[in-house]
Amino acid sequence: MKANAYAKINLTLDITGRDERGYHLLSSLFAEISLADTVTLEEGGNGISLSCNLPYVPVDERNLCYKAAQSFLREFSLSGDFHIDLIKRIPVCAGLGGGSSDAAAVLRLLCDRFGLSTEDERVLRVAASIGADVPFFLKGGLCLAEGIGERLSSLPKLDGYTVVLAKTAERASTPDVYRAYDGLPQKKAFTTLSFLEALRKGEDVTPYVSNHLTDAASLLCPSVPLLKKQLLDLGADAAEMSGSGSTVFGLFRDAEKAKTAAKNINTQFCEVCHFM
Ligand code: ATP
Repeated sequence: MKANAYAKINLTLDITGRDERGYHLLSSLFAEISLADTVTLEEGGNGISLSCNLPYVPVDERNLCYKAAQSFLREFSLSGDFHIDLIKRIPVCAGLGGGSSDAAAVLRLLCDRFGLSTEDERVLRVAASIGADVPFFLKGGLCLAEGIGERLSSLPKLDGYTVVLAKTAERASTPDVYRAYDGLPQKKAFTTLSFLEALRKGEDVTPYVSNHLTDAASLLCPSVPLLKKQLLDLGADAAEMSGSGSTVFGLFRDAEKAKTAAKNINTQFCEVCHFM
């Protein structure tokens, strides 16, 4: 049994406050894109085992695929031997949600195997226990995420754009980016509601593409503002960082311009994608 595990970008990411536990509250538009890992689930072996094409991705209980399988079997009091093979194409620690998407793909495959719906509230509970972004990947498409990312509303697909992803080897961990964010005085405008309004009216959404974490991540990854500028200079209608970085994306209305930009951008990783 095989599944694609698609990456996401955040078209907007407003930080709206903090909850009583100190977690940052978000209002963010998550969009699934065509770049994908491949997750294969086979019965056999002894317990849960994992293989991966990248040597630096853990293949033990630290892997979110492992956690997903383990939590699923526990929640439904099931037992079984499963081998998960993971082909990674989504860059790791890049703000593209790769690990969370892989975990959601494992949950989808296990739901298929055991005849359960991915909308079953127990499956959703397992997803949320693995990571805040996992429930989004069970839904996919375009979603408004609120709270700590767990309150999701599906939206119609955003058509008419080609996405160019670009990143360097620079990385910053999500907690480090949030710490840097907390240390910055100025806070940015909220754009998620304006984006949604433009989307509803069929108007241009690109003025509302934004991310409150970009300035903080740029302190740790100086390539972020440089790649944004390169994408805009190469004709992107909007360019922004995804999640806590360091991947930057460009939105292009003109698909040919997007392909030419991807050829000319000077960076380690670059990929042309579309919305799912
Ligand atoms: P997010 O955008 O949700 O913050 P990310 O895209 O920045 O996530 P991931 O690629 O999901 O980051 O990986 C983050 C960490 O999780 C890495 O340190 C990695 O070792 C670990 N990890 C666990 N499972 C996986 C997996 N299936 N694929 C990639 N990394 C994984």
